[in-house]
Amino acid sequence: MRTTNLEGIQELLEGAKKIVIVTHWSPDGDAIGSSLGLKNFFNATINANVTVVVPNSYPSFLHWMKGNNDVLLHTEHPEEVAEVVHEADVIFCLDFNHLGRINDLGLEVEKSSARKCIIDHHPQPGDFAEFILHDVKSSSTCELIYDFIEYLNGVSTIEKEIASCLYAGIMTDTGSFRFPSTSAKTHKVIAQLIEAGVDNSEIYNRVHDNCTEDKLRLLGFCLSEKIKVFKDSGTAYFALSSEELDRFNYQKGDTEGVVNYALSIAGIYFAAFIVERDGVVKMSFRSKGEFNVNEFAREHFSGGGHKNAAGGVSNVSLEETTAKFESLIPK
Ligand code: 5GP
Ligand code: MN
Repeated sequence: MRTTNLEGIQELLEGAKKIVIVTHWSPDGDAIGSSLGLKNFFNATINANVTVVVPNSYPSFLHWMKGNNDVLLHTEHPEEVAEVVHEADVIFCLDFNHLGRINDLGLEVEKSSARKCIIDHHPQPGDFAEFILHDVKSSSTCELIYDFIEYLNGVSTIEKEIASCLYAGIMTDTGSFRFPSTSAKTHKVIAQLIEAGVDNSEIYNRVHDNCTEDKLRLLGFCLSEKIKVFKDSGTAYFALSSEELDRFNYQKGDTEGVVNYALSIAGIYFAAFIVERDGVVKMSFRSKGEFNVNEFAREHFSGGGHKNAAGGVSNVSLEETTAKFESLIPK
């Protein structure tokens, strides 16, 4: 279902002096693409100071987008971030819908008297914002940013740099246009972005064909040594310790997408990737078809996400987490 409550936002934007755009913890392609796409659009159309704030760092394969060098990381510049959030007239919250998804930065956003707008496609949105553009059926937040720009009558201002940010987010969130969330409309938006000058092949290369030898060898290690397959329950998962990450000089983003390989086995419809990193155990869940990993993540691992892609965390050791996971494997 689509929820829109944007009445009055155009006037608000025309009068705004300071706009802040915030996205979720461990931002992915959709988070950074939507944030920088919207920032570049505002820079081209309104006379306001626009700052993109992200809770923590993100992989280097996302560093090429226009405006990336001005992104403020909360973990690195907490005081500066607190100040811009405090002084903002409007805050856009993109690709998340609960302040818990931005950790400590959520307290700053909550305290700020700025008027807030959520643009997002995750289920069960919170109600901390006055304005909302929300659609769980949308492939990505970037597709919703396109809709938002259309709502503001600004599609003609989408030039190559803006279009490239939005293209990157749609491409990554749809698994390069293969997930069921990819609609006819998604392809129409993509056609518009390519007409605006996007070099689709070049963006694919920047995001996917840009890895280190270590990253590729880590993938090989996961596939040959670490995957555990439970054929009878249609489940497969990987678990990696921090020592194993160190062995491959792990860099942020190096394990992104590994979980999907488990789903490529015939008969496997539920996959997990469990990793011990910075003292916590982080989990990624993916499914095919009706098994709802958003519910699974919420119920068992304090997480959330979408029906077929979700994540969560565990506060116990890697061994205890994998034992708990195995005990929950759907029958
Ligand atoms: P990933 O496995 O790629 O980190 O995340 C997949 C999806 O689940 C994304 O849509 C992401 O926003 C969501 N997600 C990942 N981790 C968490 C979490 O800890 N809590 C919640 N609520 N959602 C998460
Ligand atoms: Mn997204």
